[in-house]
Amino acid sequence: MEALREKAITLDQQDPLKAMRDEFYIPKMPTGKERIYLCGNSLGLQPKRTANYIQQELEDWKFLGVDGHFEARKPWMPYHEFLTRQMADVVGGQPEEVVVMNSLTVNLHLLMVSFFRPTKERFKIMIEKNAFPSDQYAVKSQLEFHGYDAQAGLLELPPSSGCAYTKKEDLLKYIDEHGSETALILLSGVNYYSGQSFPLQEIVEAGHKKGCIVGFDLAHAAGNVDCRLHESGADFAAWCTYKYLNSGPGGMSGVFIHERHAKDFDLPRFAGWWGHDKTSRFKMPDTFQPEEGAEGWQLSNPPILAMAALRASLSIFDEVGIKELRKKSVALTSFFESCIQSIPTERIQIITPKEPSDRGCQLSLRVQGGDKSIFEALSNMGVVSDWREPDVIRIAPVPLYNSFQEGVLFAEKLEKAVLADN
Ligand SMILES: *Cc1c(COP(=O)(O)O)cnc(C)c1O
Repeated sequence: MEALREKAITLDQQDPLKAMRDEFYIPKMPTGKERIYLCGNSLGLQPKRTANYIQQELEDWKFLGVDGHFEARKPWMPYHEFLTRQMADVVGGQPEEVVVMNSLTVNLHLLMVSFFRPTKERFKIMIEKNAFPSDQYAVKSQLEFHGYDAQAGLLELPPSSGCAYTKKEDLLKYIDEHGSETALILLSGVNYYSGQSFPLQEIVEAGHKKGCIVGFDLAHAAGNVDCRLHESGADFAAWCTYKYLNSGPGGMSGVFIHERHAKDFDLPRFAGWWGHDKTSRFKMPDTFQPEEGAEGWQLSNPPILAMAALRASLSIFDEVGIKELRKKSVALTSFFESCIQSIPTERIQIITPKEPSDRGCQLSLRVQGGDKSIFEALSNMGVVSDWREPDVIRIAPVPLYNSFQEGVLFAEKLEKAVLADN
């Protein structure tokens, strides 16, 4: 571990993003010592600049009242537009393909209204076997809403044998075998459990070849990996912004709809005034005419305070750029991996793919024979991580605010926790 510590110090010194950590509040122990925060995959840390962004809207509301819709420094009427280009850059979409609205599960439903169009011959939805529970509930309820049995309508992509994730060849084979009965493929960008990053473009190509609609849930991918959504050709995607995108608890969701659907006004969709053609929105005509592109899926006037928090966070991503971020992320996660592997025990197994292109920043660790007490011991030593029953600890070294030295500190504490657990 000593050699790794030396190396970590050097890597931190050379890190072009080292100053970014100071842009965030790092949670502390009661002693005042900073925690080792490895839970940015669940809730990202608060940028120090967020308060100013929210304060500005509170002030404009205080002094302008309703006039803030047009006269605020950032007028509330078009406020979502102040997020679009930055949000689009993070996921690799074109601005007209992206909008920020609602929260994630709500958006998955709205997108399925348009893009899950089952027929008798082709009615199934393909998801991962260990998909995030909310996504499972959402797709099952969509199947039932359309009159299908949720079990019969669900295709669950299994992990490869002896593996926590699905190898690419198995994934593409599964799509090839089941594609013709599948109406919608809805996979993660990065799986929340294994940390596997899926090859979006190859999934889209395989799915489209079979006539499926292909959408992605990028909850664990947005702000983590380089999604290149437009290039992938995906029909749609949605993600939340409170994980890697640091927009705060319950923060808003982003939506992507490929430009090929931008003017497809025949697609069924649920309507609300904020999705209406902007030029006539306030004339309040009786007939709904959707705005072109992703904006045409909006329903309501959005929560400005939540958008202000996201705007603050996106300004950081805009300064750094997803490519630079990813570069550090690959190095940081590999370094954490080396630190963990240097622990003299056979009990810790990393179940996340080894290849950097097949994972984001997260590492999922299985501790053989371990239980929640290991996680709790870590927690008492100041490590904020995440526990999944029965035996998985997930850590996410986030390139914006985690350091290489934290890799060494984490591994030392993990070693202590595992050795104490006998
Ligand atoms: C975090 C997460 C969610 C959470 O959904 P909300 O609607 O934001 O509560 C849903 N799906 C996945 C895959 C997630 O990782």
